[in-house]
Amino acid sequence: MKLTTKYVCNECGYDSSKWMGKCPACGAWNAFVEEKVSSKSSKSLNSEGAIEKNEVIELNKVVHNSTSRIKTGIDELDRVLGEGFVYGSLTLLGGEPGIGKSTLILQICDKIKIDGKILYVSGEESAEQIKIRADRLNIKNDNILFLSETNIDNVEIAIEKHSPKFVIIDSVQTMYSDEITSAARKRKSSKRDNIKSYENV
Ligand SMILES: [Zn+2]
Repeated sequence: MKLTTKYVCNECGYDSSKWMGKCPACGAWNAFVEEKVSSKSSKSLNSEGAIEKNEVIELNKVVHNSTSRIKTGIDELDRVLGEGFVYGSLTLLGGEPGIGKSTLILQICDKIKIDGKILYVSGEESAEQIKIRADRLNIKNDNILFLSETNIDNVEIAIEKHSPKFVIIDSVQTMYSDEITSAARKRKSSKRDNIKSYENV
């Protein structure tokens, strides 16, 4: 696979095509780290077409359907999300350790109004740990699939294989990719308690 190189500031995440001694964004010295980005990833991003296909349109003519959201089944959460998750969107859930993110996520898995499988990927906990929590919450949803994995490429394979409608990544900081030799794990603020979830439409 063809790899291209970019340089990323360890302090603020600023990236550049060439190495720099001082970060122009945050002023840190010697903070740039080389990252390899596979051409496959960047190409697939482009082929999805954001830049080439998008045109300027009149906002007034945009038709939207407020029912095209996925209700979480938890009224307060639906309100926070603006009537539920948007199809094809990605939602980042953050909070202090122990505040109950994983519990909330499991409750969403149980109550979400979705017709299809839900894939719960954990990079931190085993299937047994998640099952114990699910039992405690009296969750018996047959549509919840579980994968203990930290390699995002394997997560992608699992998504392609099982075609879930809703995917939980708990947590995004535990994930890595073989295709990107990243400094991510060395970055200073590795808050391990964020949860990223997105719907795969
Ligand atoms: Zn910087």
